[in-house]
Amino acid sequence: MSKRVLVTGGAGFIGSHVCDVFSSHGWSVEVVDNLSSGKRENVPNGATLHELDVRSPEAAQLVSRGAFDVIVHLAAQIDVRRSVNDPMYDASVNILGTLNVLEALRASGRGGSTRVVFSSTGGAIYGDLAVPPTVESTPKEPDSPYAIAKLAVEHYLSYYTRIHGFDTVTIRFGNVYGPRQDPHGEAGVVAIFCGRLLEGRPLTIFGDGTQTRDYVHVTDVAEAAFLVATAKLPPVRRLDDRAFNIGTGTATSVVDLAQSLLEGAGMEAPIEFAPKRAGELQDSCLSVDKARDVLGWSPRISLAQGLGDTYRYAANAAARPSHHS
Ligand code: NAD
Repeated sequence: MSKRVLVTGGAGFIGSHVCDVFSSHGWSVEVVDNLSSGKRENVPNGATLHELDVRSPEAAQLVSRGAFDVIVHLAAQIDVRRSVNDPMYDASVNILGTLNVLEALRASGRGGSTRVVFSSTGGAIYGDLAVPPTVESTPKEPDSPYAIAKLAVEHYLSYYTRIHGFDTVTIRFGNVYGPRQDPHGEAGVVAIFCGRLLEGRPLTIFGDGTQTRDYVHVTDVAEAAFLVATAKLPPVRRLDDRAFNIGTGTATSVVDLAQSLLEGAGMEAPIEFAPKRAGELQDSCLSVDKARDVLGWSPRISLAQGLGDTYRYAANAAARPSHHS
């Protein structure tokens, strides 16, 4: 019988690629998503979509009765600025939504037999004091309610693992980009830039553009999610024992990113500068040595290749809006 995975947030950007990878390995894939930012057409053929809120009793029931081998938990409120304006909503989805899943597993006695893979953030939880490339054990100084919620969930996972015998693992992403990212969202500068290029508008950079990020392609991220879901992992004694940075180890400034995108897309567009946004990190870049040593994972898609592909995908999608590729 094929193995079973539940992907929460599986109709979203990263989740849909995670579904694709598990499907391609012959797993049976189910999705919980309330379609608040995800799209039905992102869910691959053959996967079952349960249109549910991750905080709902119905989602808890699905988790406790589903006998899943793996749950990849991606459903989240992902907008950092919304978390600042409405921390209660952020905590409700990002903390209580996760606890709903964990408590359903505990109630059904499946905590030890279902591996929970959690998507945390590698930029925001380390904060501005971290020295890049940041290793997993760096002290955490989250600067936003979003990052605080992610770190809180990591602590819950560590607790459920140590105290209740759960099997959990955290992947901390850099700045993920690639096909199906929402060009109107808040998270993805690459998607936003692609959208502006397609509309013939200038690219806007907040601040002087020297701020750096670690841009990692979504296909590499989805592969990492599959690897941690199936790898033999060390026991958990401390928070970071089962946490893995997933990035590239390369810092790219926003100005360089804009230039590379224009080159990859074969386009020209003016770049305009707007005032720096409050609370934005200056530099963020992740060490991925641990993922390479323990999981045998390393990023395969170069930024130049990934940006060109992402632009071409966005151009095709703009011509055919509801297309799953
Ligand atoms: P996304 O918005 O495309 O995906 C999130 C999905 O969760 C969406 O499909 C949305 O409809 C769903 N969702 C939201 N609230 C829900 C709820 N209450 N119940 C059920 N479903 C709900 O965003 P993404 O970029 O694919 O992010 C996926 C995960 O990765 C998130 O947990 C995010 O915090 C994390 N992450 C993303 C990045 C990045 O660069 N994109 C970086 C670090 C961490």
